[in-house]
Amino acid sequence: MLAIPPSITDISVEELRSELDLEPRYRLDQIQHAVYSTNSTSFDDILTLPVGTREALAKKFSYEAVAPLRTETSLDGTKKVLLRTGDGSVIETVQMPTERHKATTICLSSQAGCAMGCTFCATGDIGLTRNLTSGEIIDQFLYFRRRSGDEQVPDRAVFMGMGEPLANLAAVEGAVRGLVEPGRVGLGARRVTVSTVGLPSGIRALADWGLSIGLAISLHAAVDEIRQCLVPVARRILLEELMDASTYYQRIAGRRVTYEYTMLEGVNDSRVQAKEVVHLLRGQRCHLNLIPFNSYPGARYRGTAPDRIRDFRDVVGLGGVSVTIRRTRGRDISGACGQLHAGGLTN
Ligand code: SF4
Repeated sequence: MLAIPPSITDISVEELRSELDLEPRYRLDQIQHAVYSTNSTSFDDILTLPVGTREALAKKFSYEAVAPLRTETSLDGTKKVLLRTGDGSVIETVQMPTERHKATTICLSSQAGCAMGCTFCATGDIGLTRNLTSGEIIDQFLYFRRRSGDEQVPDRAVFMGMGEPLANLAAVEGAVRGLVEPGRVGLGARRVTVSTVGLPSGIRALADWGLSIGLAISLHAAVDEIRQCLVPVARRILLEELMDASTYYQRIAGRRVTYEYTMLEGVNDSRVQAKEVVHLLRGQRCHLNLIPFNSYPGARYRGTAPDRIRDFRDVVGLGGVSVTIRRTRGRDISGACGQLHAGGLTN
């Protein structure tokens, strides 16, 4: 099998500095600026570099680790791009307009497919192909930054695409550092959120990175029996252990945690279950996001009706837990939460 060269975004500032050992000191800034802050899409575009330096870099690194196969645009302005990595794995990345003027959020994939098998998620149905590298994750963001123009500026990243980020911890740490560092993507920690199915060791590691990025945890039920039907990993990780890790994050990172709760008709949407949520979360530094279920071919659930979602929200809110209903984006192009499946083409 042919070796795939790493992306230039796979390496840290220190590694790039040592690559440029014999070059003048300002080369590092020239390359960082071109890669992270301009629309250039190849080393040949960096005209500030001598030809020899461009050629040497191009022999060792790829400039863009992901290439587009197909783009779909939703009626609400959401864009979903099917991307191919150097070895032919395919992933999906989504750009969502936000309430903020001209700003967009990029929903990143951390794995091609996913091994977690959540029973309400299209990605869970296709299984895992492989982990993505840090560069392949960062390059999803840069793909949009280089092509979006002034009307749709990507200024936030959420790890809510394909895959379980905390099952690919080292690469996700490298990607998060690349996203927040001022000399690289430069988003800052407040604009990056990692979403997890709820792996306690990964949540504690995330807290210990010392970056104070946002954390979202897939809850979906406040009692173990129901959660185990929805999130298979919950059979070995009980809510008590998950809540311990979550409160650790709240304390160490100094951030409120967001809990995600997909509303499934007749499964987790009763008033009794809303009260169970209150019982579990009251007193935590947290917010609950209620997510209307986004169906997909072969889905085994139906979504809760909007009026029942509002009723659930009211019960939780009256119980003293901060709660909102998430606005769905990109459902008509299968680009909404839980719908990503890379057209069934994972490799
Ligand atoms: S919800 Fe997330 S963790 Fe669960 S199967 Fe889907 S992508 Fe994987």
